[in-house]
Amino acid sequence: MTQQKSYIVGNWKMNGTQADIAILKAIADAAASDMTVDVGICPPATLIAAFAQGAGGIGVGGQDCHAKATGAHTGCVSAAMLKEAGATFSIVGHSERRADQHETDADVLGKAQALHEAGMSAILCVGETLDERDSGNAIAIVTGQLAASLPDSASADWLSVAYEPVWAIGTGRVPVSEDIAAMHAALRGTLVDLLGAAGASVRILYGGSVNPGNAQEILTIPDVGGALVGGASLKAETFLPIIQAAPR
Ligand code: PEP
Repeated sequence: MTQQKSYIVGNWKMNGTQADIAILKAIADAAASDMTVDVGICPPATLIAAFAQGAGGIGVGGQDCHAKATGAHTGCVSAAMLKEAGATFSIVGHSERRADQHETDADVLGKAQALHEAGMSAILCVGETLDERDSGNAIAIVTGQLAASLPDSASADWLSVAYEPVWAIGTGRVPVSEDIAAMHAALRGTLVDLLGAAGASVRILYGGSVNPGNAQEILTIPDVGGALVGGASLKAETFLPIIQAAPR
């Protein structure tokens, strides 16, 4: 199996205005001189078109999409709309949407399917709550989320998975490396079960309080193929060192 490039993706959540295109440009300019890492940014939907114009070699993605192509779904955006705006991929199943919008695994599967049909790739997020971690069932719960959210049409080259413990997002808390390694190994096993040998090449990103100080340790854990970064992706000064910490 060929070694995949590391994949570092910024999730800007509900942050960013046109004035912040300067931040994207700073990241794009620095990343342009280093093609050994794949970099993506998911701005709010309002900025996708502008970011796509200035992104250079950086991929621009959505943070979510609706499962349907069109219809009476006020406030929602379809995969094809993201694509028309310039996105080439989207996050689906982020824990903030699972919590705030009560999204289920079945909902996430529908969204992933919509991305596939629109010709966009997916970053499918999974992760356990603190109660689930403390119950000792985190691995079964998280691998179960993956199995239940992955469409039949899924292929290894279309998919990235992001393991994001809910209790580590935006909190400054990070699991010990052994726990990250155990979860990524379990997700790898599930991917191979579901996709066959090609499942070995899917990049499994870690997400949850990644910062310039912990990135190198996290990104060199076996089966960690990159990072999904929230807060630290909002500034070039904190996002670029994470990209630089990725293994080549
Ligand atoms: C995220 O929301 O995907 C995330 C990982 O956030 P943070 O890096 O801020 O914990």
